[in-house]
Amino acid sequence: MLKVVKFGGSSLADADQFQKACDIINEDENRRYIVPSAPGKRFSDDRKVTDMLYESYYLATAGDEASTKLFHSLFDQIKERYQSIIDGLYMDLSLEEEFDTIEADFLSGRGEAYAASRGEYLSGKILASYLNVPFVDAADVVYFHEDGKFDPSLTDEVMSLRLEETYRAVIPGFYGRKPDGSIETFSRGGSDITGSIVARAVHADIYENWTDVSGFLVADPNIVHHPKAIDSITYRELRELSYMGATVLHEAAIFPVREAGIPIQIRNTDRPQDPGTLIVESTKQKPRFVLTGIAGKKDFASVTIEKEMMNSEIGFCRKVLQVFEDNGLSIEHMPSGIDTMSIFVHQEELLAKRTEVIDGIYEAVNPDVVDLETDQSLIAVVGRGMRENRGTSGRIFSALAHANVNVNMIDQGSSELNIIIGVKNQDFETAIRAIYDIFVTTQL
Ligand code: ASP
Repeated sequence: MLKVVKFGGSSLADADQFQKACDIINEDENRRYIVPSAPGKRFSDDRKVTDMLYESYYLATAGDEASTKLFHSLFDQIKERYQSIIDGLYMDLSLEEEFDTIEADFLSGRGEAYAASRGEYLSGKILASYLNVPFVDAADVVYFHEDGKFDPSLTDEVMSLRLEETYRAVIPGFYGRKPDGSIETFSRGGSDITGSIVARAVHADIYENWTDVSGFLVADPNIVHHPKAIDSITYRELRELSYMGATVLHEAAIFPVREAGIPIQIRNTDRPQDPGTLIVESTKQKPRFVLTGIAGKKDFASVTIEKEMMNSEIGFCRKVLQVFEDNGLSIEHMPSGIDTMSIFVHQEELLAKRTEVIDGIYEAVNPDVVDLETDQSLIAVVGRGMRENRGTSGRIFSALAHANVNVNMIDQGSSELNIIIGVKNQDFETAIRAIYDIFVTTQL
């Protein structure tokens, strides 16, 4: 059994959190490759080290005296954060030399990505020293192309060979290098991606992603009181839910392990006793509830077009869609009837182009009516179990009717993995609670 473990920023925010992470690592000798993030927030209005590094770099390179002064004081705060971790772990480690180099590199303008990457680099240095595990710099094993795009094949080749030489290693997340040797980073939250790439390179049996929640929840805890956790979820279900805003993991972290057939397990550093959520390609395990999760987003607008005999007019849809494309609007959903079609788009984007879109539609297809409706929400009810259960949509709609929620739109994806429901913004929370209750609360 070989495990790759990644610890997020909140799991390494201070000495106590570092200690918890190290206990988790030491508790299981299969946890051999470790990918740390930079220290995150210790409390809600604290700052993430990565944010402080971006700001420091901006100040260091602004070129005026006042900014340089501010840079030095902010840089000192960053040093203190790391020093307090070292002190809190009673370590005999000095990062003085590292800090001198980094400070000089900031002032000489080594690049924003380099600056941001130092958060993970220093976390990795501390972790490697504390655990007495070799440190492998991500700049030597993660590669980007000249244009900043990740280079998966070179990375996999070099990383596999390098990690074969070491039974255990700490590899900092978030960054790598470009062909000219300069540092590049993934987008924010990118240590998740590094973890996934390492898991693939070492052919791990599992990629454990340790964070501050016990996995994915069936619904947003801000809407549903103490929602149940999801034990296992397929990549496809996850994609549907993340698209609707349920994010725990960087989206790009899925591809490397999915291709290699390695499951991801989301675990909570503060509650290691919780099983977390297992993300898998497919599972024979019968889901506990018919639905796996509910997620949704507010603030959509719909444009409904009616025209008699629309169905027999060849090219009608294409012409309408062209109007949206010409105005740079991306379409979220498109339910249609015989003589009507509705198009759901983000409200803010549509309102900025309202006249162009409506005029464009009249010009393109000469409709009988064009109706614009705002303040709509879309709710995705997702579950691999829905296919095998008759009456799922019936249950959703009767629950919503009982809760006095009017449904404006329904779109069942062709995968039968999800049902998308459109309701008014004001009914959003009530609708989610009603669906949760009918499928989860009443089944307990
Ligand atoms: N430290 C980086 C960020 O804050 C990357 C990460 O934590 O995954 O975005």
